[in-house]
Amino acid sequence: MVKHEGSSKTFGPRYGWTIKKKYDKIMQEQKALHKCPYCNKEKVKRVSTGIWHCGGCSTKFTSKAYTVAKTKV
Ligand SMILES: [Zn+2]
Repeated sequence: MVKHEGSSKTFGPRYGWTIKKKYDKIMQEQKALHKCPYCNKEKVKRVSTGIWHCGGCSTKFTSKAYTVAKTKV
């Protein structure tokens, strides 16, 4: 029987993997066009951190840093 328990296994590669996965998701969210909460067109692009611009209705608005917050309409 092999014992898989060990304090060194808890952190380390697993932690880095989670961060990378999160980072990939953030990058994808940044590049993708988002749905505009004002005109509902998927033409919202990230201008800079927390600032978004909609190509549909030309609205500039602030939201979460890396993605448009899901708003209940
Ligand atoms: Zn819009």
